[in-house]
Amino acid sequence: MHDFDQIFTESKKITPGGVHSPVRSFGGLERPPIFFEKASGEKLTDMNGQDYIDLCCSFGPLLLGHRDPDVQEAVEGIIKKVWSLGACENYSLELAKWITTEVPWLDKIRFVSSGTEAVMSALRLARGVTNRPYILKFDGCYHGHVDSMLVKSGSGLAGLAESSSAGVSETVASETLIAKLDSEQEVQDLFDKYADKIAAVIIEPLPANYGLLKQRPELLHFLRKITKENNSLLIFDEVISGFRVSLGGMAEKLDIVPDLVTYGKIIGGGFPVGAFAGKAEYMDMLAPTGPVYQAGTLSANPVSMVAGLATLKKIKSTNAIKVAERSCTAFTETINELFKKSKMPFSCIQASSLFFITQKTEEEEIRRPDQLKANHQEFFKKVYPHILNKYIYLAPAAYEVGFISSKITIAMAENIAKDIYNAFEQVYNEEK
Ligand code: PLP
Repeated sequence: MHDFDQIFTESKKITPGGVHSPVRSFGGLERPPIFFEKASGEKLTDMNGQDYIDLCCSFGPLLLGHRDPDVQEAVEGIIKKVWSLGACENYSLELAKWITTEVPWLDKIRFVSSGTEAVMSALRLARGVTNRPYILKFDGCYHGHVDSMLVKSGSGLAGLAESSSAGVSETVASETLIAKLDSEQEVQDLFDKYADKIAAVIIEPLPANYGLLKQRPELLHFLRKITKENNSLLIFDEVISGFRVSLGGMAEKLDIVPDLVTYGKIIGGGFPVGAFAGKAEYMDMLAPTGPVYQAGTLSANPVSMVAGLATLKKIKSTNAIKVAERSCTAFTETINELFKKSKMPFSCIQASSLFFITQKTEEEEIRRPDQLKANHQEFFKKVYPHILNKYIYLAPAAYEVGFISSKITIAMAENIAKDIYNAFEQVYNEEK
């Protein structure tokens, strides 16, 4: 038997906190992380051979579950030919063609290696296009660990941000403006004050990094309108929602054409990837045609390109978006029914194949982080070990959403819902 405590102790000696991305550390859960060895379909298997149902799905890329056979075949095919070039090739062209055909308002796309890189590049491009310094973002949206996005609402001037991470200078933070989600008024006020300085407004059109904060479509239409009126760009960060809520993402669902969009996760099928895309007039401002510099050694890596294309084609041919959504609906309805029957004050929020379970609030719809119950994190820490005991793996952090893959059937989803409900019931009864 492998001792995860011991492996984690060893990891901590040679990598900060024992991990390469903070959430993986099971912070505050008072137990070491599980060390996994392999995965297949809807299952993860740890180093001791224990299986878990995976509702984290690598934080989003694996809409088809793990090691889909068609994606695996494509990956095995490409690594027999090449795995890195740093030169022109046809693989990225094929993926670019596929994406720009499915999302017809995209003229041009550039591939990078992560969602963070996509956002960072899109922001630079927006500043280059408009020759303005400020970016307006929303409290409760995550856009990767780009310096200017690691900010929180400042205590000084209304709307101006303060850094939320050491290492982000005040100068960088001062070029970010923050508005509350669900508030047209805050955005209007910031435009009234800084209109000729705002290069872009960036938003997750389906905010899924602080629970699931579904926005009113009116807010997103308002953003399209106000950015247009003020010659600012509108950037939809669809790193999570792209190719998950529909092939055209939230932009298609809302019938809004943003100026730029960022992608990641699904478009690499589980291999490192990111992309930003939009109208030719903006994208052509990038080097080598334009003055905005952007580059990458591993950009458009052939393995990621081929895996991404195989994934997207299979998502389309198997209707995987709807399949996963149907299972997520079955999960949500089952668990909400059980919560209702037992009068337990919890509720599961669903959007497509994403879900988030939280404590019921006075408001019908939770659209801002401050509407979540203050003790959400505390309760999550208590319930998480019980969920794990049922061999269900959710992301080990309170505000992460759950991901349902197309490998989860409706029957499985109903059983998972019952198991998770039982975990909540156990903790709730202990608390009473
Ligand atoms: N944007 C959004 C909406 C995300 O959810 C994430 C990551 O979760 C990112 C950007 C950053 O992507 P990456 O982790 O690939 O750098």
